[in-house]
Amino acid sequence: MQGTVLIIEDEQEIADLISLYLNKEGIKTLHALTGEEGMELLESSDFDLLLLDINLPGIDGFEVLQKVRGKGADIPVMIVSARQEDVDMIMGFGIGADDYVSKPFSPKVLSARVRAHLRRIQTQTTEESNLFSFGPYLLDRDNLWLKKNGERLDLPPKELALLLVLSEHPERAYKQEELYKQVWQNSFGDLTTVSVHIQRLRKKLEENPAKPEFIKTAYGSGYYITAGDGN
Ligand code: CA
Repeated sequence: MQGTVLIIEDEQEIADLISLYLNKEGIKTLHALTGEEGMELLESSDFDLLLLDINLPGIDGFEVLQKVRGKGADIPVMIVSARQEDVDMIMGFGIGADDYVSKPFSPKVLSARVRAHLRRIQTQTTEESNLFSFGPYLLDRDNLWLKKNGERLDLPPKELALLLVLSEHPERAYKQEELYKQVWQNSFGDLTTVSVHIQRLRKKLEENPAKPEFIKTAYGSGYYITAGDGN
């Protein structure tokens, strides 16, 4: 899963633990030990989500949140706090946090919540711009290109067409006949052509073409594409 998270947390071990779990999912993390340091990072880099501790030395999490929102930044903010009253206050007074996790937390649960937020943002962006992202790939369905980690990959037209059809409804299984009809614009022909092209795509896009992560075989017959984060 793609995304960069800023962790503002004065306890190094907690930040390390969060980073460990998020990095495992492919999410990048940056850590600031104080609110001031965090604000500087927020201004100098782009983040997809902020994990914010409330009880910090110097300016506390409330102030950080107010300053962030004061600047009109709409970055999702997840509060991580040990004090129930902090959580009540944030959720009750609408200071502008999107979610909270109380300490002590399960790193697994925290990681799942972060991923849910990142997924939500990515889906929004995707719907607006007709982009489909899966793993390191980004498919622009309007401008007909595929990029891997920002670099354009050239695919033969039929392979690209297959991707375009599959990504119209990710997770929906397309029968070979249907793919054949849409991509080859013909109802009669050798259906193995479809599987041959699927194999070629897998060879190019999948780390392990025998165990595809994105271009999956549907039960019965047919194929579907999935964003592939396995959750
Ligand atoms: Ca703290």
